[in-house]
Amino acid sequence: MYRRLQAHAGPWDLIVVGGGATGAGVAIDGASRGYRVLLLEQSDFGKGTSSRSTKLVHGGVRYLEQGNVSLVMEALRERGLLLENAPHLVRNLGFVVPNYDWWEAPFYGIGLKLYNLLAGKYGFGASRILSREETLERLPALNSSGLRGGVIYFDGQFDDSRLLINLIATAGEQGAALLNYVRVTGLRKDSDGFVTGVKARDLEDGQEFDADARVVINATGPFSDDLRRQADPSAEPIIAPSQGIHLVLDGSFLAGDSAIMVPHTSDGRVMFAIPWHGHTLVGTTDTPLPEVALEPVAQEQEIDFVLQTASLYLAKIPARRDITSVFAGIRPLVRAGDSANTAALSRGHTVRIENSGMITICGGKWTTYRHMAEDCVNQAATLGRLPERPCATEHLNIHGYHPSAATFGRLAVYGSDAPAIEKLMAVDASLSELLHGALPYTAADVVWAVREEMARTVEDVLARRTRALFLNARAAIEIAPRVAALMARELGRHTAWETAQVQAFRQTALGFLPGPL
Ligand SMILES: Cc1cc2nc3c(=O)[nH]c(=O)nc-3n(C[C@H](O)[C@H](O)[C@H](O)COP(=O)(O)OP(=O)(O)OC[C@H]3O[C@@H](n4cnc5c(N)ncnc54)[C@H](O)[C@@H]3O)c2cc1C
Repeated sequence: MYRRLQAHAGPWDLIVVGGGATGAGVAIDGASRGYRVLLLEQSDFGKGTSSRSTKLVHGGVRYLEQGNVSLVMEALRERGLLLENAPHLVRNLGFVVPNYDWWEAPFYGIGLKLYNLLAGKYGFGASRILSREETLERLPALNSSGLRGGVIYFDGQFDDSRLLINLIATAGEQGAALLNYVRVTGLRKDSDGFVTGVKARDLEDGQEFDADARVVINATGPFSDDLRRQADPSAEPIIAPSQGIHLVLDGSFLAGDSAIMVPHTSDGRVMFAIPWHGHTLVGTTDTPLPEVALEPVAQEQEIDFVLQTASLYLAKIPARRDITSVFAGIRPLVRAGDSANTAALSRGHTVRIENSGMITICGGKWTTYRHMAEDCVNQAATLGRLPERPCATEHLNIHGYHPSAATFGRLAVYGSDAPAIEKLMAVDASLSELLHGALPYTAADVVWAVREEMARTVEDVLARRTRALFLNARAAIEIAPRVAALMARELGRHTAWETAQVQAFRQTALGFLPGPL
């Protein structure tokens, strides 16, 4: 990627700032149309919100309730396309709405039928009403006291940071240059104040460089206003940051392979309990934040709220000591007036052409990243007077595409890369040992992440190439020294690097452990 950067002469067609779902989508869209694209991410790809979602590829039942039919239809179509283009990472999952009141079955039954109808040819399966026995068969660990039955519907589930890493690879294959740990520190402007490029700093060696572009695209998610203010110090903020947290519990809290969907929590939100990589993922919250951080931390009352809500629906009541990991993410929601209720803000996306000529793309959802990118690149091409070329991503396979990846077992998330990882283990048997009894990862995952997926730090490997930190933070801390040693060997680093990496990782991982009772 550095060679691509150095070999490039003249302005790029597009410089994308931010390597989350939105930026990666824009890079793929631009590069696959034949535009010359550079993407710069200040930390690791997916370090921001895009590794911290509920991991649903969905239309959003809640948005249907809010009457936002067009957003739901757009998202349901994208859900179908994503299943087609990345079947190794997206799966069809049954969601059961448990009914404890007589009116719930007909009420949710009708709403969920409509949800499936709106998906048209991209439907994931018809919803239906379940008897009490059928509900418990699907969800043996559900609180059965007062249970009357349920309604089942089908939606998509994925692994967010694995998809992101595969999107980055896809953009690279389409010719884009993409660098992690390069921060955009300023904007270059012409004498009229029009943005013509970026100033950047490589955070690994401190080197600074400038790069010019026909169009600079601000895809920095919750940080969008920072770059907007650099372009125009008088710019009014457009982001209303809102935090959501998830708790991860042992898989036994949600035995079976269906999810629970609670349409109305006591704060008027939706709550999910989802089977994910052998664990149970429960969330989320909607807490307006005064400012954004790259490593947000769950608030005590958010943890209490999720535990309390989960305990209403789970037969085995979860306590703080059962939490194996807790993570927080920040929604880059677009402001609507001075609304204090972020749960009510639209999840639709916004593409803004700023007075400075920079484009800001924000809001939206993981599910709609491809469509957001198409919209953004269409506008960038017009603004930058790029040769007109149609979007090519609707049927573009994403790196790792494999129609039956499940046959790779533990390595299924790697899709078509799985045989290469198996080969690593066949050549060196020491790489096939599990790093920890509580986690499904081996030394081969670490070596692969460094050699093929641009992992630079222990956190990159344990948080985003594998999901160790998100599944079990204590286990992740325990294996950090071994991961650091393996990485040091691959990257040619010294012991001091290993020690610093383990310390830095531990510091971050402590934020994934719930505080004392
Ligand atoms: C709790 C929660 C649950 C969610 N669940 C779902 C879900 O189930 N399904 C769904 O579809 N959507 C979901 N979403 C929404 C989805 O996760 C987000 O819409 C999406 O991840 C936003 O991606 P992004 O690329 O815009 O932002 P980010 O992922 O935050 O990426 C922005 C990137 O810009 C980088 N950056 C910032 N400043 C600079 C700079 N100066 N130079 C270089 N880089 C910079 C940051 O480091 C960051 O990596 C959820 C969101 C939250 C918070």
